[in-house]
Amino acid sequence: MSFRVGYGHDLHRLQPGGVLMLGGVQVADGISPIAHSDGDVVIHALVDAILGALCEGDIGDAFPNSDPRWRGAASKLFLDEALRRMHAKGYHLANVDILILAEKPKLGSHKKTIAQNLESWLGLPAGSVNVKAGTNEGCDAIGRGEALAATVVVLLEKS
Ligand code: MG
Repeated sequence: MSFRVGYGHDLHRLQPGGVLMLGGVQVADGISPIAHSDGDVVIHALVDAILGALCEGDIGDAFPNSDPRWRGAASKLFLDEALRRMHAKGYHLANVDILILAEKPKLGSHKKTIAQNLESWLGLPAGSVNVKAGTNEGCDAIGRGEALAATVVVLLEKS
């Protein structure tokens, strides 16, 4: 069997107004990331993890802002393209582990929903996507509620 591991990280600053999307799920309104697209840090970190496992650089290489196809694109489009590349190389996702760091909103009640939504988007059985949520204990920009971040690890398996 052939396996490849990938790691991704993303952070966005937050601003008043709009909606907050994490893993394709709206978890809050009245607060939103400062971003070109929907600023979904979970999807961005997931895309980076998949590209990393494929040894295809990072999300900025794959989807440059200078390319009109990707400017302001919804994060789901980036994910669909990363999955297309993964399948083209003959791999599928074995499992996904996600850590979200945010001081607010509290995410405990959304973890299961985000995991289930991603299992659906990724075509994976239940129990394949794990979502963890934590705060930054009041430290730095995340701790002050000025930003939020996500880290994702994926394991790809040769189909
Ligand atoms: Mg991002």
